[in-house]
Amino acid sequence: MSADEQSGPGRVPGRQFFFNPGPTHIPDSVFGAMHRPVIDFLAPEFIEVLTRVHERTKRVLKCSQHLLFYGTNGHGAWEGALANVFSPGDKMLMIESGHFSINWAKMAQELGLEVELLAADWRHGVPAGALEERLGKDKAHEIKGVMVVHNETATGLAHPIADIRREMDAAGHPAMLLVDTISSLASFDFRFDEWGVDLAVGGSQKGLMMITGLSFIAISERAMAASETAGITRSFVDWKQMMTVKPQRFPGTTPVHLFYGLDEALRILEAEGLDRVFARHARLAGAIRAAIAHWGEGYRSGIRVDADGPSGPVEKMELLCADPARVSNSVTAALTPSGIDANHFRRIALNKYNLSLGQGLGPLAGKVFRIGHLGDLNEPMVLGALATMELAMRDAGMPHRPGGVQAALDTLGQTN
Ligand code: PLP
Repeated sequence: MSADEQSGPGRVPGRQFFFNPGPTHIPDSVFGAMHRPVIDFLAPEFIEVLTRVHERTKRVLKCSQHLLFYGTNGHGAWEGALANVFSPGDKMLMIESGHFSINWAKMAQELGLEVELLAADWRHGVPAGALEERLGKDKAHEIKGVMVVHNETATGLAHPIADIRREMDAAGHPAMLLVDTISSLASFDFRFDEWGVDLAVGGSQKGLMMITGLSFIAISERAMAASETAGITRSFVDWKQMMTVKPQRFPGTTPVHLFYGLDEALRILEAEGLDRVFARHARLAGAIRAAIAHWGEGYRSGIRVDADGPSGPVEKMELLCADPARVSNSVTAALTPSGIDANHFRRIALNKYNLSLGQGLGPLAGKVFRIGHLGDLNEPMVLGALATMELAMRDAGMPHRPGGVQAALDTLGQTN
């Protein structure tokens, strides 16, 4: 949020409805679990918590191999996954999907890796078969890693990781598979072992319903073995020291309280049951998409979006993700009609009604608003947010067909 967006008329009464795609709503008991006296991070009582958080996180990741946490945001784990396994000059193939794919690719370049983008329209993602075709041409197996953002938070597009693995296998290509699960994990299914993922990066502050500050990497045996010879210079993110103690050592002081919070968040997720958590996210996402389709009168343009922005004018509001099989159940992005500043609408929602929405990133700034619908969320919260959006649309002069909330209600009526 920019300073400009915060310069409203003062305090807006009531609890803020926070619909940014991360951080997300955090259950009160998670805050409560962190409200406790300090203890020694080597105390057996804490090591028990740390060990349990490792086990619980691995269950969410469906990973039986290695897991290491950092006391950082997601960028720290992004860097850790690259720096521990690869060497300067290694070739990486990034599946393009939007802002976060571009930024992770940029980081890889800054670490000395050579990155090729598998180009894609951000509204559809790479077409099926494109990865297999590209890898099939790499007869010398020069590409060492395939990188993909499971859920592109900037566009609301989710990649089918099982299909990506199938294409790599069909091409007979041995590259490592690196997946960013930062805005997908615990919102929809991810299977580290089954999908043959080598490195999965995650963060505490989205589907895991915790504050920002913990990130982690699930690591396959193969990736761990490769770390023995990886040549990128590293210190803080290096795994060698971290692996000397079970479940892990931290470089410096362990962020003890963050683990107490994450332990409680994971306990809540387990109590609901992951499949039910996924079904809830799917249900709420469907309602949000129904509202947007209604507001835009079902309009579907053929415009494309890439790093240069939208390829043409947008007549009515529409979902940014144009592939119904790839729509995200944790983030929805809507293109606003051309000439309408999406940030003006977002400022009204925030400053007048205390509803925080995500902004368009990179070339989509001012052209898109994003709704985060992940974490500790239910029907009343979503319906309240949608009703408030419609109110703010009126204020902002944003063209829309009234009645989006009814469309959401109808969808929920069918899926509950
Ligand atoms: N990857 C994705 C998909 C994200 O959504 C984000 C943040 O929103 C990041 C990476 C970066 O994570 P962090 O902001 O915790 O460093």
